[in-house]
Amino acid sequence: MTLRFLQKYPHALELMYDFSHWLLRPFRRWLQPNGRLEGFVTWSEEIGKRAVFDCQMCGQCILHSTGMTCSMTCPKNLRNGPCGGVRTNGHCEVKPEMRCIWVVAYERSLKMPAYGHEMLHIQPPVNQQLEGTSSWINMLHEVDIALPDGWVKSADIHIINPASLPKIA
Ligand code: SF4
Repeated sequence: MTLRFLQKYPHALELMYDFSHWLLRPFRRWLQPNGRLEGFVTWSEEIGKRAVFDCQMCGQCILHSTGMTCSMTCPKNLRNGPCGGVRTNGHCEVKPEMRCIWVVAYERSLKMPAYGHEMLHIQPPVNQQLEGTSSWINMLHEVDIALPDGWVKSADIHIINPASLPKIA
């Protein structure tokens, strides 16, 4: 069953997003990663979000920051887009028959008074270790925003000035 037509109503979907937060938060202690209910919650999330958003179960949902459009449906899986290959008609360079999901995301974000501005946020790379897990549970326990071992916060990255590097003879 597909419910993709709901994506025509991004404002309603952002309200649903807030509502789902409000609904899930009191159950935080029962909804644990690797907990008893994880399998059921993951299954429910996959059924519902696949029908509406073609969710790919990345485990780190950023729908509200990308115009209620799943960034993982981009053929390049870009978390920040678009790439440089968008065609002049707004279609994808990999799948010419498909509109670029980032063009669509931008259009939808303009209809989202609460979260539309988050289209301008830079998203970290997707953590592949969370693939297949419930983003709802990960969100409740902030697993989705935790940095994996060896990763550095973007704010902690110091840009090297090429002029300060030693010259190679
Ligand atoms: S961002 Fe991730 S969790 Fe959210 S709809 Fe897309 S694949 Fe699913």
